[in-house]
Amino acid sequence: MNSAVTEPTGAGRTYQVRTFGCQMNVHDSERLSGLLEQAGYRAAVEGNPADVVVFNTCAVRENADNKLYGNLGHLASVKTAHPGMQIAVGGCLAQKDRGEILRRAPWVDVVFGTHNVGSLPTLLDRARHNRRAQVEILDALEVFPSSLPAKRESHYSGWVSISVGCNNTCTFCIVPSLRGKEADRRPGDVLTEVQMLVDDGVLEVTLLGQNVNSYGVQFGDRGAFAKLLRACGAIDGLERVRFTSPHPKDFTPDVIEAMARTPNVCHQLHMPLQSGSDRVLKAMRRSYRSARYLSILADVRSAMPDAAITTDIIVGFPGETDDDFEQTLDVVRRSRFAGAYTFQYSPRPGTPAAELSDRIPPDVVAERFARLAEAVTESTLAENRTMVGRSVEVLGRVEAGEAAGRIVAVRQGPLLATSFHPEVGGDVRIHRYFVDQIVHADGRNS
Ligand code: SF4
Repeated sequence: MNSAVTEPTGAGRTYQVRTFGCQMNVHDSERLSGLLEQAGYRAAVEGNPADVVVFNTCAVRENADNKLYGNLGHLASVKTAHPGMQIAVGGCLAQKDRGEILRRAPWVDVVFGTHNVGSLPTLLDRARHNRRAQVEILDALEVFPSSLPAKRESHYSGWVSISVGCNNTCTFCIVPSLRGKEADRRPGDVLTEVQMLVDDGVLEVTLLGQNVNSYGVQFGDRGAFAKLLRACGAIDGLERVRFTSPHPKDFTPDVIEAMARTPNVCHQLHMPLQSGSDRVLKAMRRSYRSARYLSILADVRSAMPDAAITTDIIVGFPGETDDDFEQTLDVVRRSRFAGAYTFQYSPRPGTPAAELSDRIPPDVVAERFARLAEAVTESTLAENRTMVGRSVEVLGRVEAGEAAGRIVAVRQGPLLATSFHPEVGGDVRIHRYFVDQIVHADGRNS
């Protein structure tokens, strides 16, 4: 029997993963790094050119392709000066553009899609061996990405995918055509991964899916997400559970109850509104209406009065009238958001909304966008002021001797500037702080 150990194919080579886009991509990049390390690659030292550069791309954000091709253009000369270097492009834009990437950037070595993340090391080997670019895009999920190795970015906080893909058909969104139909991971597998993370010292997990509220649709259990939250509550040592993103259409009372009654589930909700106008919601094919959205928030606040609620809003969707926009402002004021990600609509090729002709002039969009930002700032400040005089918990690391008073503003959402820097050293754990004043992100005190 030959007992010789075969050297991993990437041994002696370095890599760098560059990530664009959402949390889903950030998490996929952890998988890409894990896969490359398992194949023997090592992370490149900052400032040194990597032997393999992987782009994990996004097709959702504006100008995603310009950004990618700009980056690839810059790397062409780096590659010429660094023989043996390989460039790989994966993620949503690769799934969408496929062979087009090689046409526009023929110095790329590997193109892979969202359904075959696990093939990256093999494709790099094959491209090196055959001296030919490899393009492999699958139309359905090969292996659930969570069963692949991962190199986690944080030692105390981890993402856990519960589903990939989406069964909705929002007209502005490219995700369903790039990530496919929703595939749910079995609850036992999710909980095993959470337990493994906790055993490794992780204190906080964020359950991840395009629409976490429809979790279970694939295995026929409408109550699966609430059950999952409760089951996370039974994991010893798991201090915090968060999730993203919920969808108002599928949000059910059992989830609110599970959030309120499971002590380690954070009272935080990031629930996309997109528009406060029912007419626009219909055009977006978002099948809830503003009244339903507001009633979910009321139920959440009645069960969890301290809930920090944030949202996503799109301004200037085709056909949006002044009146539609006023309705959005009205919902924003009534929702008491602790923060919002706001976007100016821009068409994504391949989406139904990109075909709509009644575009809103850019100056009108810009004016509405500024007014929306003002309304969100007011709402954020008002919500943050309610924190003054309360004690809050912060997960982080504090230098020995650092004064508690250094934290002047804290909220469970990504809302406020704070003088607290969690990476400075010391033990990572939950600290309690008294909020004596609020410092807003733009530096204003209140
Ligand atoms: Fe896109 Fe809508 Fe699915 Fe969200 S719910 S991923 S916006 S199709």
